[in-house]
Amino acid sequence: MSNHLFDAFRSRMPAPERLLLEADDRRSLTYGDMLARSAQLAHALLQLDVEPGDRVAVQVEKSPEALLLYLACVRAGAVFLPLNTAYTLTELGYFFGDAEPRVIVCDPAKAADIGRLVETSGAIVVTLDRNGRGSLADQASRQSSNFHDVERGADDLAAILYTSGTTGRSKGAMLSHENLASNARVLVDQWRFTSDDVLVHALPIFHTHGLFVATNVTLMAGASMLFEQKFDPARIVSLLPRATTLMGVPTFYVRLLQQDGLNHESTKTIRLFISGSAPLLAETHNAWRERTGHAILERYGMTETNMNTSNPYEGERRAGTVGFPLPGVSLRIADPDGGGTLAQGEIGMIEVKGPNVFGGYWRMPEKTRAEFRGDGFFITGDLGMIDADGYVHIVGRGKDLIISGGYNIYPKELESEIDALDGVSESAVIGVTHPDFGEGVTAVVVRSPASTITAAEILGAITERVAKYKHPKRVIFVDELPRNTMGKVQKNLLRDAYKDLYA
Ligand code: ATP
Ligand code: MG
Repeated sequence: MSNHLFDAFRSRMPAPERLLLEADDRRSLTYGDMLARSAQLAHALLQLDVEPGDRVAVQVEKSPEALLLYLACVRAGAVFLPLNTAYTLTELGYFFGDAEPRVIVCDPAKAADIGRLVETSGAIVVTLDRNGRGSLADQASRQSSNFHDVERGADDLAAILYTSGTTGRSKGAMLSHENLASNARVLVDQWRFTSDDVLVHALPIFHTHGLFVATNVTLMAGASMLFEQKFDPARIVSLLPRATTLMGVPTFYVRLLQQDGLNHESTKTIRLFISGSAPLLAETHNAWRERTGHAILERYGMTETNMNTSNPYEGERRAGTVGFPLPGVSLRIADPDGGGTLAQGEIGMIEVKGPNVFGGYWRMPEKTRAEFRGDGFFITGDLGMIDADGYVHIVGRGKDLIISGGYNIYPKELESEIDALDGVSESAVIGVTHPDFGEGVTAVVVRSPASTITAAEILGAITERVAKYKHPKRVIFVDELPRNTMGKVQKNLLRDAYKDLYA
């Protein structure tokens, strides 16, 4: 029998006594433990009547057992459906209604409420707490540690992952066994992962970054992880000397830079720092290089596509870019309206095609049709361009493009100018409804500590550098930008907060 994704992991598995992970409470799991305990969980799922293709929705705290549950779902032929731990009951209602899971795994504290929520749906609710205990764990502990993996082919679904909901309601991306396997293989190769690697894993495991990029790459390399429930910057610095690599969102790097202990010495065993999920400021890249001697490798991906591009392992890692398309991934910059490929250097819609790209949005055939071109390219919704050396630059999301007085204005260009000023920590440039211009360019700025920079100074500094039609009509100072759990700036919230600014 073959199970496409799990077989791919098995084929690269190191000796059973090798360490897969060590958790922050010192509990550890070897590869042999992983096989035995994911087998027990897979048996437990079958006992709950999970059949191939059934969804198993999981909203639990990060723990080694939660990760084993992902593998158990793959082995049992189920579709793993992780949910952000921050989702409220109302939000969960939407996801459960949409995905119709056979089984729901949740924290014991939420079991009664969730049970009521899905009373009429026939879903079975079982529990798993942050320490790996609960009714599902109890049931698993009574099972055999041998399991015949359920037959699954390359195109069968392995997971439905909901997008982060940065630009609107989350959509369920249907990811196949081969979507995940192919991307993990490519990344292991590109980033030179081996079984000697030790990855600091401090990301949530309900999102593609922590779940698929970090975990699948580790498994596919036979490597190991220091598996942290939370991102605690001081603790991460103390772990670095035991590790060889770190994957993080840009906020991780910004916060690690605030730690005194971060320097050449504490990072000397590290061979690779990787960033993604949101834009890494060139300023952060440069500060990191200065403090540690390491050039952070930035890559670009999304829930629907896994990873699309990466800066090179060898060769220049160019700050402010996301590098080159990964092997097997075709990437083009297209006219957002017509879809024709644009000339090199022009800004347009990033479109991708490859074995990494999902099959469609769960139960949204129309949305799926609208987001794919006739020749199979997926319209990412991100605007970008390819420079003369082939590096891909992301200039922002299509939905954040500002049209003022009939001109297109890309927020990233202005944000880069404003961020570079002394006295500015960071900024977000948005379009706000304006009676004369359609949208008024509006800069929302966070001053750096102790800075007293004024709106007039900011506007004065950029007058000479960018064309007049792009100048912000207003500069607003805030203490911090609204961000979601993955560190993404929520521009929709800003647009909403300032919607009457020019009324
Ligand atoms: P939704 O689709 O629900 O609005 P989302 O797009 O934020 O949410 P994700 O799939 O988690 O959900 O995020 C993918 C997006 O993250 C990409 O489309 C891109 O805009 C952004 N992104 C990822 N990596 C990078 C990067 N290195 N630089 C800039 N943006 C990035
Ligand atoms: Mg998206």
